[in-house]
Amino acid sequence: MRPDEFRRRAHQLVDWMADYFQNVGELPITPDVHPGDIMRVLPEAAPDDAESFDRIWEDFQQLILPGMTHWNHPGWFAYFPANNSPPSVLAEMVTATLGAQCMSWATSPAATELEQITMTWLRQMLGLPEGFTGVIQDTASTATLVALLSARQRYQSEPGDESSGRLTVYASTEAHSSVEKAVKLSGIGLEQFRRIAVDDEYAMRADLLAQAIQRDLGNGYRPACVVATAGTTSSTAIDPLSAVAEICDGRKVWLHVDAAYAGAAAIVPELRPLFAGIERADSIVFNPHKWMLVNFDCSAYFVRDTQALLRTFQITPEYLRTSQDAEVVNYRDWGIQLGRRFRALKLWFVIRQYGVNGLRDMIRHHVGLAHQLAGRIRETPGFEVVAPVRFGLVCFRYCPRAAAGLDSERLNDLNRRVLARVNAGRKVFLTHTMLGGNHVLRMAIGQRLTMRSHVEMAWDLIQEAASSETA
Ligand SMILES: *Cc1c(COP(=O)(O)O)cnc(C)c1O
Repeated sequence: MRPDEFRRRAHQLVDWMADYFQNVGELPITPDVHPGDIMRVLPEAAPDDAESFDRIWEDFQQLILPGMTHWNHPGWFAYFPANNSPPSVLAEMVTATLGAQCMSWATSPAATELEQITMTWLRQMLGLPEGFTGVIQDTASTATLVALLSARQRYQSEPGDESSGRLTVYASTEAHSSVEKAVKLSGIGLEQFRRIAVDDEYAMRADLLAQAIQRDLGNGYRPACVVATAGTTSSTAIDPLSAVAEICDGRKVWLHVDAAYAGAAAIVPELRPLFAGIERADSIVFNPHKWMLVNFDCSAYFVRDTQALLRTFQITPEYLRTSQDAEVVNYRDWGIQLGRRFRALKLWFVIRQYGVNGLRDMIRHHVGLAHQLAGRIRETPGFEVVAPVRFGLVCFRYCPRAAAGLDSERLNDLNRRVLARVNAGRKVFLTHTMLGGNHVLRMAIGQRLTMRSHVEMAWDLIQEAASSETA
């Protein structure tokens, strides 16, 4: 592609991008496709000869776009959001254009130092003390694995310690699957993973955690890490962070807090008390790519003992050694990967473009909508809110009077049908979870363009669907 063609195509695509942002709300939010539909219309082998960009772009619009799920549609209430925003997209364009590898200070000094600065900004925005240092990881899953590996390293670095094979890890039964994956990947092994039961608000029972640790100590195990969740994926439950920190303190147990989704809410002063105790963690992860308008991927990992992190990950082959190593941060030593994208740029663009107050207002807006919706659900006969509403997520279910006496499987099935009917309209998209054995609907409000009218439309569609389904 010649420079003048690149310029022309870039302008053409920017126009498309601006139109997409404007019109995404009118597209079907989920595609009408079956497995294999898209592969079937694509060539099985790469083209030998060059094709024109017109044809590539045409195929994108005809074959690929209709098979996309539109995460940035204002009717998005599924999973948790994956935000983006105009300044974030612009930063991604610049990052892609620079195409830099940001593994070391020397390979991109400004990228390293901007990451240091933006992570300091984020730390202050969250109200975390100075003892925490931040680094951008690709995902919360990686960050949790990094935490577990650091906790494991603490034991392995003790000379003569042969008990590192007896390490145990603790998380609630509501913790994210990435914790289980990290326990597997770290070599600690699932048989040494303790799932702690939750209370009636789906938060970890600190008393049961203390008992489990005590029991393991008595049996010669080495409790290495507790992963507490601030904002669980199913229902945004918050584990009792202060009580958990109290248990970890003094026992050399690494406390990692998974605040992947809800962490963004800690930038709002009136919501910060929900995170009391988080400042006592050894490490924290939160995803600006979920609820802070930054494109995937951007996961902020804050760690207290950076030496423990470096001991775990630092390896300096001769070809990467530089004379500045003693004075600079080399982020390749702060995680698993060597090569790194310039992810601080989009964070910098977003924080500056919206200002901390702008980001706070967005979160307040979503939390406000969630509370309004919960109020509507509570006052509607036949519906119930089934978990406390703390952030942008409302968990609820349909349990009409006519269903009284239905066994729970039939009631679950009714809720499955209501959800399927709502989603079939492709105007809004919600997902489900299981809470206490019940199939419940989750409505996660957090898309940048979501307004009150979208939430109201979704609620109308849910009520309509419910009245069309018979128990
Ligand atoms: C979304 C989520 C994760 C996983 O995040 P990734 O960045 O996709 O790895 C982990 N924990 C919680 C609580 C989450 O909500």
